[in-house]
Amino acid sequence: MTATANWAQTGGQPRIAIIGAGMSGLAAVVKLRRAGYTDITVFEKAAEVGGTWRENQYPGLSCDVESHWYSFTFNPNPNWSHRFAYGPEIQDYMIETADKFDIRSVTRFQEEVVDLTYAEPIWKLTTKKGTETFDVVISATGVLHKPAYPSIKGLKSFAGPCFHTARWDTALDLSNKRVGIIGTGSTSAQIIGAITHKVQHMTVFQRTAQWIAPLPQRQYAAWEKALFRIFPFLLKLSYHWKYFMFRRVFAPATVGNKLLQKMISSICLRHLEKGVPDPELRAKLTPTYQALCKRLIFCSDFYPAISRPNATLVTEAIEKITPQGIVTKDGVEHELDVLVLATGFDSSAFILPTKVTGRNGTDLATVWGQAPRAHRGVGLPDFPNFWMLEGPTSPIGNLSLIMISEHQVDYVISLLDEMRRLRLNYIVPAQSAYEAYNDDMSQQINKTVWVTGGCDSWYIDASGQPNLYAYPPTTYLKDMHRLDLAEFEYGPPPNRIAAE
Ligand code: NAP
Repeated sequence: MTATANWAQTGGQPRIAIIGAGMSGLAAVVKLRRAGYTDITVFEKAAEVGGTWRENQYPGLSCDVESHWYSFTFNPNPNWSHRFAYGPEIQDYMIETADKFDIRSVTRFQEEVVDLTYAEPIWKLTTKKGTETFDVVISATGVLHKPAYPSIKGLKSFAGPCFHTARWDTALDLSNKRVGIIGTGSTSAQIIGAITHKVQHMTVFQRTAQWIAPLPQRQYAAWEKALFRIFPFLLKLSYHWKYFMFRRVFAPATVGNKLLQKMISSICLRHLEKGVPDPELRAKLTPTYQALCKRLIFCSDFYPAISRPNATLVTEAIEKITPQGIVTKDGVEHELDVLVLATGFDSSAFILPTKVTGRNGTDLATVWGQAPRAHRGVGLPDFPNFWMLEGPTSPIGNLSLIMISEHQVDYVISLLDEMRRLRLNYIVPAQSAYEAYNDDMSQQINKTVWVTGGCDSWYIDASGQPNLYAYPPTTYLKDMHRLDLAEFEYGPPPNRIAAE
Protein backbone atom coordinates (compact mmCIF):
# COMPACT_ATOMS: atom_id res chain seq x y z
CA MET A 1 0.00 0.00 0.00
CA THR A 2 1.30 3.42 -0.96
CA ALA A 3 -1.06 5.51 1.13
CA THR A 4 0.32 8.71 2.58
CA ALA A 5 -1.14 10.05 5.82
CA ASN A 6 -4.60 11.41 5.22
CA TRP A 7 -6.53 14.21 6.91
CA ALA A 8 -7.44 12.06 9.91
CA GLN A 9 -3.81 11.20 10.57
CA THR A 10 -2.40 14.69 9.99
CA GLY A 11 -5.18 16.51 11.84
CA GLY A 12 -6.13 18.28 8.61
CA GLN A 13 -9.51 18.85 7.02
CA PRO A 14 -11.26 16.16 4.98
CA ARG A 15 -12.20 17.35 1.52
CA ILE A 16 -15.96 16.82 1.57
CA ALA A 17 -18.12 16.75 -1.56
CA ILE A 18 -21.86 17.17 -1.09
CA ILE A 19 -24.03 16.27 -4.04
CA GLY A 20 -27.14 18.42 -4.20
CA ALA A 21 -28.01 21.84 -2.76
CA GLY A 22 -31.54 20.95 -1.75
CA MET A 23 -32.83 20.92 1.78
CA SER A 24 -30.53 18.14 3.04
CA GLY A 25 -27.45 19.50 1.24
CA LEU A 26 -27.98 22.91 2.87
CA ALA A 27 -28.38 21.28 6.29
CA ALA A 28 -25.18 19.32 5.73
CA VAL A 29 -23.09 22.40 4.93
CA VAL A 30 -24.26 24.34 7.98
CA LYS A 31 -23.96 21.45 10.43
CA LEU A 32 -20.60 20.22 9.14
CA ARG A 33 -19.12 23.70 9.41
CA ARG A 34 -20.45 24.06 12.94
CA ALA A 35 -18.76 20.74 13.79
CA GLY A 36 -15.46 22.11 12.46
CA TYR A 37 -15.46 20.54 8.97
CA THR A 38 -14.86 23.42 6.61
CA ASP A 39 -13.38 22.05 3.36
CA ILE A 40 -16.71 21.58 1.62
CA THR A 41 -17.73 21.67 -2.04
CA VAL A 42 -21.36 21.36 -3.05
CA PHE A 43 -22.18 20.14 -6.55
CA GLU A 44 -25.59 21.24 -7.77
CA LYS A 45 -26.92 20.26 -11.19
CA ALA A 46 -29.25 23.28 -11.42
CA ALA A 47 -28.62 27.02 -11.28
CA GLU A 48 -30.25 27.54 -7.88
CA VAL A 49 -30.53 25.87 -4.48
CA GLY A 50 -33.79 24.37 -3.21
CA GLY A 51 -34.10 20.90 -4.75
CA THR A 52 -37.70 19.76 -4.85
CA TRP A 53 -38.93 23.26 -3.96
CA ARG A 54 -37.03 24.74 -6.89
CA GLU A 55 -38.07 22.03 -9.28
CA ASN A 56 -41.78 21.75 -8.50
CA GLN A 57 -43.72 24.80 -9.66
CA TYR A 58 -47.19 23.41 -10.06
CA PRO A 59 -50.19 25.45 -8.89
CA GLY A 60 -51.27 24.73 -5.32
CA LEU A 61 -47.84 23.38 -4.33
CA SER A 62 -47.58 23.40 -0.57
CA CYS A 63 -46.10 21.37 2.22
CA ASP A 64 -48.51 19.32 4.30
CA VAL A 65 -46.03 19.31 7.17
CA GLU A 66 -46.50 22.34 9.41
CA SER A 67 -44.07 25.11 8.56
CA HIS A 68 -42.65 25.61 12.06
CA TRP A 69 -41.66 21.94 12.01
CA TYR A 70 -40.61 21.96 8.35
CA SER A 71 -37.77 24.36 9.23
CA PHE A 72 -34.07 24.00 9.94
CA THR A 73 -33.31 23.96 13.68
CA PHE A 74 -30.44 26.35 12.92
CA ASN A 75 -32.67 28.77 11.02
CA PRO A 76 -36.09 28.97 12.68
CA ASN A 77 -38.45 31.21 10.77
CA PRO A 78 -40.93 33.38 12.65
CA ASN A 79 -42.25 34.81 9.39
CA TRP A 80 -44.01 31.81 7.86
CA SER A 81 -47.20 33.27 6.40
CA HIS A 82 -49.23 30.07 6.75
CA ARG A 83 -49.45 27.10 9.06
CA PHE A 84 -48.65 24.95 6.00
CA ALA A 85 -46.32 26.95 3.78
CA TYR A 86 -46.78 27.21 0.03
CA GLY A 87 -44.02 26.10 -2.34
CA PRO A 88 -42.70 29.55 -3.40
CA GLU A 89 -42.35 30.64 0.23
CA ILE A 90 -40.43 27.45 1.08
CA GLN A 91 -38.15 28.04 -1.91
CA ASP A 92 -37.56 31.62 -0.66
CA TYR A 93 -36.65 30.13 2.72
CA MET A 94 -34.15 27.76 1.06
CA ILE A 95 -32.59 30.71 -0.80
CA GLU A 96 -32.52 32.82 2.37
CA THR A 97 -30.81 29.94 4.23
CA ALA A 98 -28.21 29.57 1.48
CA ASP A 99 -27.46 33.31 1.60
CA LYS A 100 -27.50 33.69 5.37
CA PHE A 101 -25.13 30.76 5.89
CA ASP A 102 -22.87 31.62 2.95
CA ILE A 103 -23.54 28.34 1.14
CA ARG A 104 -23.28 29.75 -2.39
CA SER A 105 -19.56 30.44 -1.96
CA VAL A 106 -18.91 26.68 -1.76
CA THR A 107 -21.51 25.63 -4.32
CA ARG A 108 -20.75 24.82 -7.94
CA PHE A 109 -23.99 25.40 -9.77
CA GLN A 110 -24.84 23.62 -13.02
CA GLU A 111 -22.26 20.95 -12.31
CA GLU A 112 -23.99 17.61 -12.33
CA VAL A 113 -21.97 14.75 -10.89
CA VAL A 114 -21.92 11.97 -13.45
CA ASP A 115 -19.42 9.56 -11.94
CA LEU A 116 -18.06 8.68 -8.52
CA THR A 117 -15.30 6.11 -8.26
CA TYR A 118 -13.59 4.95 -5.10
CA ALA A 119 -9.82 4.76 -5.45
CA GLU A 120 -8.80 3.81 -1.92
CA PRO A 121 -8.75 5.89 0.21
CA ILE A 122 -10.27 8.74 -1.82
CA TRP A 123 -13.21 9.30 -4.16
CA LYS A 124 -12.79 10.51 -7.72
CA LEU A 125 -15.72 12.75 -8.59
CA THR A 126 -16.43 13.60 -12.21
CA THR A 127 -18.62 16.31 -13.65
CA LYS A 128 -18.63 17.42 -17.26
CA LYS A 129 -15.92 19.93 -16.26
CA GLY A 130 -13.46 17.26 -15.14
CA THR A 131 -12.41 14.96 -12.30
CA GLU A 132 -11.46 15.93 -8.77
CA THR A 133 -10.69 13.98 -5.62
CA PHE A 134 -12.41 14.04 -2.24
CA ASP A 135 -11.98 12.22 1.06
CA VAL A 136 -15.68 12.01 1.84
CA VAL A 137 -18.77 12.11 -0.36
CA ILE A 138 -22.23 12.95 0.94
CA SER A 139 -25.12 12.29 -1.38
CA ALA A 140 -27.94 14.75 -0.73
CA THR A 141 -29.88 14.12 -3.92
CA GLY A 142 -33.34 13.63 -2.40
CA VAL A 143 -35.73 10.75 -2.89
CA LEU A 144 -38.38 11.85 -5.37
CA HIS A 145 -36.54 13.71 -8.11
CA LYS A 146 -36.85 11.47 -11.14
CA PRO A 147 -40.33 11.80 -12.71
CA ALA A 148 -42.13 8.53 -13.45
CA TYR A 149 -43.86 8.63 -16.82
CA PRO A 150 -46.71 6.18 -17.37
CA SER A 151 -46.29 3.62 -20.12
CA ILE A 152 -49.63 4.27 -21.77
CA LYS A 153 -50.10 3.56 -25.46
CA GLY A 154 -50.04 6.75 -27.55
CA LEU A 155 -48.65 9.04 -24.82
CA LYS A 156 -46.37 10.81 -27.26
CA SER A 157 -49.16 11.32 -29.78
CA PHE A 158 -51.12 13.82 -27.67
CA ALA A 159 -51.43 17.02 -29.73
CA GLY A 160 -51.65 19.59 -26.93
CA PRO A 161 -49.25 20.44 -24.11
CA CYS A 162 -48.47 17.36 -22.02
CA PHE A 163 -46.12 17.46 -19.05
CA HIS A 164 -45.24 15.84 -15.74
CA THR A 165 -46.19 17.80 -12.61
CA ALA A 166 -42.49 18.29 -11.80
CA ARG A 167 -42.02 19.96 -15.20
CA TRP A 168 -44.97 22.34 -15.00
CA ASP A 169 -45.34 24.76 -17.89
CA THR A 170 -45.70 27.98 -15.90
CA ALA A 171 -46.24 30.06 -19.06
CA LEU A 172 -49.35 28.13 -20.04
CA ASP A 173 -52.70 29.82 -19.43
CA LEU A 174 -55.16 27.11 -18.43
CA SER A 175 -58.32 29.20 -18.38
CA ASN A 176 -60.78 28.03 -21.02
CA LYS A 177 -58.84 24.79 -21.41
CA ARG A 178 -60.08 21.24 -21.01
CA VAL A 179 -57.47 19.84 -18.67
CA GLY A 180 -56.94 16.14 -18.01
CA ILE A 181 -54.86 14.85 -15.13
CA ILE A 182 -53.68 11.26 -14.67
CA GLY A 183 -53.15 10.25 -11.05
CA THR A 184 -54.67 11.20 -7.71
CA GLY A 185 -51.70 11.36 -5.29
CA SER A 186 -50.73 14.29 -3.04
CA THR A 187 -49.49 16.33 -5.99
CA SER A 188 -52.61 15.83 -8.06
CA ALA A 189 -54.92 16.66 -5.14
CA GLN A 190 -53.14 19.99 -4.63
CA ILE A 191 -53.31 20.86 -8.34
CA ILE A 192 -56.96 19.90 -8.72
CA GLY A 193 -57.83 21.91 -5.61
CA ALA A 194 -55.97 24.95 -6.94
CA ILE A 195 -57.06 25.15 -10.58
CA THR A 196 -60.38 23.40 -11.19
CA HIS A 197 -62.36 26.60 -10.67
CA LYS A 198 -60.19 28.36 -13.28
CA VAL A 199 -60.30 25.86 -16.13
CA GLN A 200 -63.08 25.14 -18.60
CA HIS A 201 -63.22 21.47 -17.61
CA MET A 202 -61.15 19.21 -15.38
CA THR A 203 -61.09 15.48 -16.07
CA VAL A 204 -59.38 13.40 -13.41
CA PHE A 205 -58.27 9.85 -14.24
CA GLN A 206 -58.21 7.88 -11.00
CA ARG A 207 -56.78 4.37 -10.81
CA THR A 208 -57.08 3.98 -7.04
CA ALA A 209 -59.13 6.08 -4.63
CA GLN A 210 -57.10 7.85 -1.95
CA TRP A 211 -57.51 8.48 1.75
CA ILE A 212 -57.64 12.24 2.17
CA ALA A 213 -57.59 14.09 5.48
CA PRO A 214 -58.53 17.76 5.81
CA LEU A 215 -55.64 20.22 5.95
CA PRO A 216 -56.21 22.71 8.78
CA GLN A 217 -54.60 25.54 6.83
CA ARG A 218 -54.62 29.07 8.16
CA GLN A 219 -52.71 32.29 7.81
CA TYR A 220 -50.58 33.52 10.71
CA ALA A 221 -51.68 36.94 11.94
CA ALA A 222 -49.13 39.75 12.14
CA TRP A 223 -49.27 39.65 15.95
CA GLU A 224 -48.48 35.92 15.97
CA LYS A 225 -45.44 36.41 13.79
CA ALA A 226 -44.34 39.30 16.02
CA LEU A 227 -44.65 37.04 19.07
CA PHE A 228 -42.52 34.37 17.36
CA ARG A 229 -39.92 37.04 16.54
CA ILE A 230 -39.82 38.50 20.05
CA PHE A 231 -39.96 35.16 21.89
CA PRO A 232 -37.97 32.65 19.81
CA PHE A 233 -38.64 29.93 22.39
CA LEU A 234 -42.26 29.95 21.17
CA LEU A 235 -41.04 28.83 17.75
CA LYS A 236 -39.04 26.06 19.37
CA LEU A 237 -42.10 25.06 21.36
CA SER A 238 -44.18 25.01 18.18
CA TYR A 239 -41.56 22.82 16.42
CA HIS A 240 -41.56 20.28 19.25
CA TRP A 241 -45.33 20.35 19.69
CA LYS A 242 -45.81 19.41 16.03
CA TYR A 243 -43.29 16.63 16.34
CA PHE A 244 -44.92 15.44 19.57
CA MET A 245 -48.34 15.23 17.89
CA PHE A 246 -46.84 13.36 14.98
CA ARG A 247 -45.10 10.81 17.11
CA ARG A 248 -48.09 10.31 19.40
CA VAL A 249 -50.78 9.97 16.73
CA PHE A 250 -49.50 9.50 13.26
CA ALA A 251 -46.37 7.42 13.61
CA PRO A 252 -47.89 4.73 15.88
CA ALA A 253 -50.81 4.39 13.46
CA THR A 254 -48.51 3.56 10.54
CA VAL A 255 -46.52 0.96 12.44
CA GLY A 256 -49.52 -0.88 13.82
CA ASN A 257 -51.78 0.96 16.32
CA LYS A 258 -55.25 -0.11 15.15
CA LEU A 259 -57.18 2.37 17.29
CA LEU A 260 -55.29 5.33 15.88
CA GLN A 261 -55.66 3.92 12.36
CA LYS A 262 -59.41 3.76 12.90
CA MET A 263 -59.48 7.32 14.20
CA ILE A 264 -57.62 8.58 11.11
CA SER A 265 -59.93 6.61 8.78
CA SER A 266 -63.03 8.09 10.35
CA ILE A 267 -61.61 11.64 10.10
CA CYS A 268 -61.02 11.01 6.37
CA LEU A 269 -64.45 9.48 5.81
CA ARG A 270 -66.15 12.40 7.55
CA HIS A 271 -64.11 14.74 5.36
CA LEU A 272 -65.29 12.85 2.26
CA GLU A 273 -68.90 12.84 3.42
CA LYS A 274 -68.82 16.58 4.06
CA GLY A 275 -66.93 17.50 0.90
CA VAL A 276 -68.76 15.34 -1.66
CA PRO A 277 -72.59 15.55 -1.54
CA ASP A 278 -73.15 13.24 -4.55
CA PRO A 279 -73.32 9.62 -3.27
CA GLU A 280 -72.26 8.15 -6.61
CA LEU A 281 -69.14 10.30 -6.74
CA ARG A 282 -68.49 9.61 -3.07
CA ALA A 283 -68.58 5.87 -3.72
CA LYS A 284 -65.98 6.24 -6.45
CA LEU A 285 -63.78 8.23 -4.09
CA THR A 286 -64.03 5.77 -1.21
CA PRO A 287 -60.84 3.72 -0.82
CA THR A 288 -61.09 -0.06 -0.48
CA TYR A 289 -57.84 -0.51 1.47
CA GLN A 290 -56.71 0.72 4.86
CA ALA A 291 -55.92 4.36 5.55
CA LEU A 292 -52.18 5.18 5.73
CA CYS A 293 -51.29 2.23 3.48
CA LYS A 294 -50.41 4.76 0.79
CA ARG A 295 -49.04 8.08 1.95
CA LEU A 296 -51.96 9.94 3.49
CA ILE A 297 -53.03 13.02 1.56
CA PHE A 298 -53.80 16.20 3.46
CA CYS A 299 -55.90 18.50 1.31
CA SER A 300 -59.11 20.39 2.00
CA ASP A 301 -59.60 21.68 -1.53
CA PHE A 302 -59.76 18.43 -3.48
CA TYR A 303 -63.29 17.23 -2.60
CA PRO A 304 -64.99 20.60 -3.24
CA ALA A 305 -63.07 20.86 -6.54
CA ILE A 306 -63.94 17.39 -7.82
CA SER A 307 -67.60 18.04 -6.88
CA ARG A 308 -67.78 21.11 -9.13
CA PRO A 309 -69.99 20.93 -12.24
CA ASN A 310 -66.91 21.46 -14.45
CA ALA A 311 -65.09 18.40 -13.03
CA THR A 312 -65.38 14.73 -14.00
CA LEU A 313 -63.86 11.81 -12.16
CA VAL A 314 -63.07 8.93 -14.51
CA THR A 315 -62.47 5.59 -12.83
CA GLU A 316 -62.58 3.47 -15.99
CA ALA A 317 -59.07 2.26 -16.84
CA ILE A 318 -57.14 4.09 -19.55
CA GLU A 319 -56.90 2.27 -22.89
CA LYS A 320 -54.78 4.73 -24.84
CA ILE A 321 -53.89 8.34 -25.44
CA THR A 322 -54.81 9.90 -28.76
CA PRO A 323 -53.96 13.32 -30.27
CA GLN A 324 -57.33 14.57 -28.99
CA GLY A 325 -57.41 13.07 -25.51
CA ILE A 326 -57.73 9.84 -23.57
CA VAL A 327 -59.73 6.76 -24.56
CA THR A 328 -60.83 4.60 -21.64
CA LYS A 329 -61.48 0.84 -21.75
CA ASP A 330 -65.21 1.44 -22.18
CA GLY A 331 -64.43 3.07 -25.54
CA VAL A 332 -65.23 6.63 -24.43
CA GLU A 333 -62.90 9.34 -25.71
CA HIS A 334 -62.33 12.17 -23.21
CA GLU A 335 -61.32 15.20 -25.25
CA LEU A 336 -58.59 17.35 -23.73
CA ASP A 337 -56.53 20.43 -24.57
CA VAL A 338 -53.85 19.86 -21.92
CA LEU A 339 -52.68 16.64 -20.30
CA VAL A 340 -50.97 16.62 -16.90
CA LEU A 341 -49.11 13.54 -15.72
CA ALA A 342 -49.38 13.43 -11.92
CA THR A 343 -47.95 9.94 -11.96
CA GLY A 344 -45.31 10.32 -9.25
CA PHE A 345 -41.62 9.56 -9.20
CA ASP A 346 -39.11 6.75 -9.50
CA SER A 347 -38.61 6.17 -5.79
CA SER A 348 -35.72 3.75 -6.32
CA ALA A 349 -33.36 6.26 -7.90
CA PHE A 350 -31.77 8.10 -4.95
CA ILE A 351 -28.31 9.10 -6.28
CA LEU A 352 -28.80 7.17 -9.53
CA PRO A 353 -28.39 7.68 -12.49
CA THR A 354 -24.98 8.99 -11.30
CA LYS A 355 -22.61 6.05 -11.77
CA VAL A 356 -21.14 5.11 -8.40
CA THR A 357 -18.33 2.54 -8.22
CA GLY A 358 -17.15 1.41 -4.80
CA ARG A 359 -14.45 -0.92 -3.53
CA ASN A 360 -13.28 -3.66 -5.92
CA GLY A 361 -15.27 -2.16 -8.78
CA THR A 362 -18.64 -2.69 -7.05
CA ASP A 363 -21.32 -0.90 -9.06
CA LEU A 364 -24.06 0.73 -6.95
CA ALA A 365 -26.82 0.33 -9.56
CA THR A 366 -26.03 -3.39 -9.78
CA VAL A 367 -25.95 -3.85 -5.99
CA TRP A 368 -29.31 -2.12 -5.67
CA GLY A 369 -31.14 -3.47 -8.70
CA GLN A 370 -34.54 -1.84 -8.32
CA ALA A 371 -34.55 -2.42 -4.55
CA PRO A 372 -32.09 -0.03 -2.90
CA ARG A 373 -31.10 -0.65 0.70
CA ALA A 374 -28.62 0.97 3.07
CA HIS A 375 -27.30 0.58 6.57
CA ARG A 376 -29.35 2.88 8.82
CA GLY A 377 -30.41 4.73 5.67
CA VAL A 378 -26.97 6.30 5.23
CA GLY A 379 -24.23 3.87 4.15
CA LEU A 380 -23.38 0.71 2.25
CA PRO A 381 -20.70 -1.98 2.50
CA ASP A 382 -18.09 -1.57 -0.26
CA PHE A 383 -18.72 2.19 -0.40
CA PRO A 384 -16.29 3.60 2.21
CA ASN A 385 -16.56 7.25 3.26
CA PHE A 386 -19.73 7.57 1.17
CA TRP A 387 -22.86 8.67 3.02
CA MET A 388 -26.41 9.34 1.95
CA LEU A 389 -29.01 11.70 3.36
CA GLU A 390 -32.62 10.53 2.93
CA GLY A 391 -31.18 7.26 1.62
CA PRO A 392 -33.00 3.91 1.31
CA THR A 393 -35.24 2.91 4.27
CA SER A 394 -34.91 6.32 5.87
CA PRO A 395 -38.14 7.26 7.58
CA ILE A 396 -40.19 9.28 5.13
CA GLY A 397 -43.91 9.80 4.66
CA ASN A 398 -45.88 12.42 6.51
CA LEU A 399 -43.09 13.83 8.67
CA SER A 400 -40.56 16.60 8.44
CA LEU A 401 -37.80 15.41 6.14
CA ILE A 402 -35.74 18.40 7.26
CA MET A 403 -35.71 16.90 10.73
CA ILE A 404 -34.64 13.48 9.42
CA SER A 405 -31.85 15.01 7.31
CA GLU A 406 -30.50 16.98 10.24
CA HIS A 407 -30.27 13.84 12.37
CA GLN A 408 -28.55 11.97 9.55
CA VAL A 409 -26.02 14.79 9.17
CA ASP A 410 -25.30 14.50 12.90
CA TYR A 411 -24.65 10.79 12.39
CA VAL A 412 -22.24 11.46 9.52
CA ILE A 413 -20.46 14.02 11.71
CA SER A 414 -20.07 11.35 14.43
CA LEU A 415 -18.49 9.07 11.83
CA LEU A 416 -16.05 11.80 10.78
CA ASP A 417 -15.24 12.51 14.42
CA GLU A 418 -14.45 8.82 14.91
CA MET A 419 -12.21 8.85 11.84
CA ARG A 420 -10.31 11.76 13.28
CA ARG A 421 -10.13 10.23 16.78
CA LEU A 422 -8.91 6.85 15.52
CA ARG A 423 -6.88 8.34 12.65
CA LEU A 424 -8.66 6.25 10.06
CA ASN A 425 -8.40 6.13 6.32
CA TYR A 426 -11.86 4.77 5.81
CA ILE A 427 -15.00 3.69 7.57
CA VAL A 428 -17.74 1.63 6.00
CA PRO A 429 -20.78 -0.36 7.19
CA ALA A 430 -19.82 -3.98 7.81
CA GLN A 431 -21.58 -6.45 5.51
CA SER A 432 -22.89 -8.39 8.53
CA ALA A 433 -24.35 -5.26 10.17
CA TYR A 434 -25.92 -4.12 6.89
CA GLU A 435 -27.54 -7.53 6.40
CA ALA A 436 -28.73 -7.79 10.01
CA TYR A 437 -30.22 -4.29 9.82
CA ASN A 438 -32.04 -4.89 6.56
CA ASP A 439 -33.19 -8.41 7.51
CA ASP A 440 -34.73 -6.93 10.62
CA MET A 441 -36.40 -4.14 8.59
CA SER A 442 -37.70 -6.70 6.16
CA GLN A 443 -39.28 -8.80 8.96
CA GLN A 444 -40.64 -5.88 10.91
CA ILE A 445 -42.08 -4.04 7.92
CA ASN A 446 -44.63 -6.84 7.46
CA LYS A 447 -46.37 -5.65 10.62
CA THR A 448 -46.89 -2.12 9.28
CA VAL A 449 -49.96 -0.76 7.52
CA TRP A 450 -47.84 -0.24 4.38
CA VAL A 451 -47.96 -4.05 4.00
CA THR A 452 -51.09 -5.09 5.91
CA GLY A 453 -53.17 -2.25 4.45
CA GLY A 454 -53.85 -4.05 1.15
CA CYS A 455 -52.62 -1.43 -1.30
CA ASP A 456 -49.87 -0.78 -3.81
CA SER A 457 -47.84 2.40 -3.41
CA TRP A 458 -44.61 4.07 -4.39
CA TYR A 459 -43.18 2.87 -1.07
CA ILE A 460 -43.04 -0.68 -2.47
CA ASP A 461 -40.05 -1.45 -4.64
CA ALA A 462 -38.91 -4.40 -6.73
CA SER A 463 -38.32 -6.46 -3.56
CA GLY A 464 -42.11 -6.42 -3.08
CA GLN A 465 -41.64 -4.61 0.24
CA PRO A 466 -41.90 -0.95 1.25
CA ASN A 467 -38.57 0.85 1.17
CA LEU A 468 -39.26 2.46 4.53
CA TYR A 469 -38.13 2.42 8.13
CA ALA A 470 -40.20 -0.19 9.94
CA TYR A 471 -40.18 1.15 13.50
CA PRO A 472 -41.48 4.46 14.83
CA PRO A 473 -39.36 7.33 13.46
CA THR A 474 -38.50 8.28 17.07
CA THR A 475 -36.49 5.05 17.36
CA TYR A 476 -34.58 5.98 14.23
CA LEU A 477 -33.82 9.48 15.48
CA LYS A 478 -32.57 8.11 18.80
CA ASP A 479 -30.37 5.57 17.03
CA MET A 480 -28.84 8.31 14.91
CA HIS A 481 -27.32 9.68 18.10
CA ARG A 482 -25.88 6.36 19.26
CA LEU A 483 -23.14 5.55 16.81
CA ASP A 484 -21.94 1.98 17.36
CA LEU A 485 -18.56 1.37 15.76
CA ALA A 486 -19.14 -2.38 15.99
CA GLU A 487 -21.45 -1.96 12.98
CA PHE A 488 -18.56 -0.68 10.87
CA GLU A 489 -15.39 -1.88 9.30
CA TYR A 490 -12.58 0.64 9.42
CA GLY A 491 -8.89 1.02 8.97
CA PRO A 492 -6.10 0.85 8.42
CA PRO A 493 -4.84 0.98 12.00
CA PRO A 494 -2.49 3.91 12.62
CA ASN A 495 0.58 1.70 13.06
CA ARG A 496 0.11 0.41 9.52
CA ILE A 497 0.08 3.96 8.16
CA ALA A 498 3.09 4.89 10.26
CA ALA A 499 5.02 1.87 9.00
CA GLU A 500 4.39 2.79 5.35
P1 NAP B 1 -47.86 9.39 -6.17
O1 NAP B 1 -48.31 9.54 -4.77
O2 NAP B 1 -46.93 8.30 -6.51
O3 NAP B 1 -49.17 9.31 -7.06
C1 NAP B 1 -49.11 8.93 -8.40
C2 NAP B 1 -50.54 8.80 -8.92
O4 NAP B 1 -50.47 8.46 -10.29
C3 NAP B 1 -51.33 7.70 -8.23
O5 NAP B 1 -52.64 8.11 -8.12
C4 NAP B 1 -51.19 6.53 -9.21
O6 NAP B 1 -52.26 5.61 -9.15
C5 NAP B 1 -51.23 7.28 -10.52
N1 NAP B 1 -50.62 6.56 -11.62
C6 NAP B 1 -49.32 6.25 -11.77
N2 NAP B 1 -49.12 5.61 -12.96
C7 NAP B 1 -50.34 5.52 -13.53
C8 NAP B 1 -50.80 4.95 -14.75
N3 NAP B 1 -49.96 4.35 -15.59
N4 NAP B 1 -52.12 5.04 -15.03
C9 NAP B 1 -52.95 5.65 -14.18
N5 NAP B 1 -52.60 6.19 -13.02
C10 NAP B 1 -51.29 6.13 -12.70
O7 NAP B 1 -47.15 10.74 -6.72
P2 NAP B 1 -47.29 12.24 -6.20
O8 NAP B 1 -48.71 12.64 -6.05
O9 NAP B 1 -46.44 13.07 -7.07
O10 NAP B 1 -46.69 12.20 -4.76
C11 NAP B 1 -45.46 11.56 -4.51
C12 NAP B 1 -45.01 11.89 -3.12
O11 NAP B 1 -44.48 13.22 -3.11
C13 NAP B 1 -46.07 11.93 -2.07
O12 NAP B 1 -46.48 10.67 -1.64
C14 NAP B 1 -45.36 12.72 -1.02
O13 NAP B 1 -44.45 11.92 -0.31
C15 NAP B 1 -44.63 13.75 -1.84
N6 NAP B 1 -45.44 14.97 -1.90
C16 NAP B 1 -45.53 15.68 -0.76
C17 NAP B 1 -46.27 16.82 -0.74
C18 NAP B 1 -46.36 17.59 0.53
O14 NAP B 1 -47.24 18.37 0.68
N7 NAP B 1 -45.46 17.37 1.50
C19 NAP B 1 -46.94 17.24 -1.88
C20 NAP B 1 -46.83 16.51 -3.04
C21 NAP B 1 -46.07 15.37 -3.03
P3 NAP B 1 -52.22 4.38 -8.10
O15 NAP B 1 -52.51 4.98 -6.77
O16 NAP B 1 -53.24 3.46 -8.59
O17 NAP B 1 -50.83 3.80 -8.18
